[in-house]
Amino acid sequence: MSFDTLGLLPELLRAVREQGYETPTPIQAQAIPVVLQGRDLMGGAQTGTGKTAAFTLPMLQRLAPQASTSTSPAKHPIRALVLTPTRELAMQVEESIRTYGKHIPLRSTTIFGGVNINPQIAALRKGVEILVATPGRLLDHHQQGTLRFDQLEILVLDEADRMLDMGFIRDIKKILALLPAKRQSLLFSATFSGEIRELAASLLKDPASVDVAPRNSTTELVKQVVHPVDRERKRALLAHLIQTKNLEQVLVFTRTKHGANRLAEQLDKDGISALAIHGNKSQPQRIKALSDFKQGNIRVLVATDIAARGLDIDQLPHVVNYELPQVPEDYVHRIGRTGRAGSEGEALSLVCVDEHKLLKGIERLLKNPLPSEVVAGFAPDPAIKAEPIENGRSGGGQRPGGGRPSGRQGSNPRSSSARPARPEGRRGSAPSSSRRGV
Ligand code: AMP
Repeated sequence: MSFDTLGLLPELLRAVREQGYETPTPIQAQAIPVVLQGRDLMGGAQTGTGKTAAFTLPMLQRLAPQASTSTSPAKHPIRALVLTPTRELAMQVEESIRTYGKHIPLRSTTIFGGVNINPQIAALRKGVEILVATPGRLLDHHQQGTLRFDQLEILVLDEADRMLDMGFIRDIKKILALLPAKRQSLLFSATFSGEIRELAASLLKDPASVDVAPRNSTTELVKQVVHPVDRERKRALLAHLIQTKNLEQVLVFTRTKHGANRLAEQLDKDGISALAIHGNKSQPQRIKALSDFKQGNIRVLVATDIAARGLDIDQLPHVVNYELPQVPEDYVHRIGRTGRAGSEGEALSLVCVDEHKLLKGIERLLKNPLPSEVVAGFAPDPAIKAEPIENGRSGGGQRPGGGRPSGRQGSNPRSSSARPARPEGRRGSAPSSSRRGV
């Protein structure tokens, strides 16, 4: 199948060609015609499937007839709103809008928290048709009277499951109340909990449904291996694997922000260039970490689950689960970072005795056991007993009513890197726990 058969405008096809894309991905092939018709859509897709272009291309096309080169702000009312859970995703979505929309005179901007609001206000005053926003900052703008949605035609909720995980449900409901009832709404989510279905039912009208999310089975292009190891030897094993297998561009997951920081610092001391990315980092720090990683200036990016969501890193060769996630679905999200766009990826999980229950939960979700390989010199000591993983017992991490999440990124005080830490919410502040040596 080629892009030419989807009914897209020549300006969009040209932009797609300039990106070097030849065939639409499954979510694009299915979603683009539906969105072009003006229908609401419920899309099951995670990052890496091409979902951004799946909604961005038809959205641009629907807005194109009224695109204007006029400099008057009145000619550029907000006509589409894309809500994202994180600043990174907001930036990436807007980058895609600029990329695909470069031959159409539509304006876009992002608004997200953690940065000065004034430049955002100035950008809004000039007029933009497409606004990409995180929920909290959008409401801040609304309170300041810098936004009008009376001409809004399209709403996109991107990574809706993650928005709920991060406690944004009330903000989303407040935002929905500000929008015209007559509009086209698109909702994308990698998972479909009861809460997501409820949200979808409240905002979508007679939606078409397109589902490409590998929810309970991971992509076949990802080679998955578990390396059993003692909790105190994880860092040594990670350094060993990176060096002996000559791994480049490695995305490493920890459960906590402190764990991410500490591991990145230690790897750096071991001579393996590494940076941590998580919600306590300032915006410039996150942007720099991501761009250094993308350009190959740093070898390892250590991330927490929430920070990693929405990171647009193509065809990542290696993902390492330094600690297994508390929530089995997060394993699927994590390894979805690799094996993209037809290239094979590798997902390694360093699993200590404390994590056997988490591993079982993941294998249950995948409906398959994960192959296990002991690395020579790192065989676990059978005398070491399992110790509890703190905060990991809340069972699922989603609170009814959607407040701040609890327990998603619990920590194991005995594990090699984790510290008691608060989960990353939208206005999370730094945990004040004491640090101990890794
Ligand atoms: P997304 O799932 O939207 O985050 O997209 C994942 C990556 O796939 C992005 O870097 C896109 O540039 C790339 N991509 C999107 N659509 C295509 C396509 N049809 N062919 C090749 N790459 C694509």
